Formats: sequence, structure tokens, C-alpha cells
Amino acid sequence: MNVKKMKTYCGVCGKETEQEEVKDEIAPGVYVRSTRCTVCGEEWTSHEELEGAKNELRKLGYTRLRRKLGKVGEALVLRIPKDIQEQMGLREGDYVDLYTTKDEVRVKVKVAQRR
Ligand SMILES: [Zn+2]
Repeated sequence: MNVKKMKTYCGVCGKETEQEEVKDEIAPGVYVRSTRCTVCGEEWTSHEELEGAKNELRKLGYTRLRRKLGKVGEALVLRIPKDIQEQMGLREGDYVDLYTTKDEVRVKVKVAQRR
């Protein structure tokens, strides 16, 4: 994350703040610049920036899908919809890799080569 600071008033909390410009990698090689209020922590992104990121994702062949985590016992469960299972040839027992940093978990499901 790349940070550049500038002093102004927050559009959300109305307090004088040093707004930070933050750059997040939303997919490998795709970045979105947002502004974050250092007082309330609220982040916002311009329409142009979001459209640019969407075009970049499309160009690289990414499709983003937001899923809600479920719970089974003590574990959180990520459900993969049936159409994606079928499209990608995923099966029960396939392995999923979780790449974790202090504030993010990326999920990677590599489709196994099967006969
Ligand atoms: Zn604020």
C-alpha cells in the first residue's frame, strides 16, 4: 500500500484531517487509488478510478464475485456456487490455498488436471 498525505476536511466526518491517498492491489497487478480520512478511517474511491479498475480486471480476464462466509461448527466456510464448480471442474476434496497477510486473505483454487 502506497500512502500520500494531504491536509483537508473530511466529507464524511467533517473534521480537519490529513487525508491519505491509498493504493490497494485488488487483484494481482490491478490497483485502485482511494482517499482515506485519518480521523474516521472512511475510504472512498472516484467513479473514474473504479471504472478504470473494472476495465483492467476485464482485460486480464478476472471476474469478481462477492460471497458471504458461512459457519460450520467453529470454522468459517466459503461456498462456491454450482455454476462456478461446473465451469471450473471443481470437486469436493479439491485443495484451496489461502495466502494471508495481516489484513487480507486471498483464496486460490487451482483446478487439478484430471483425465
Ligand atoms: Zn473523516
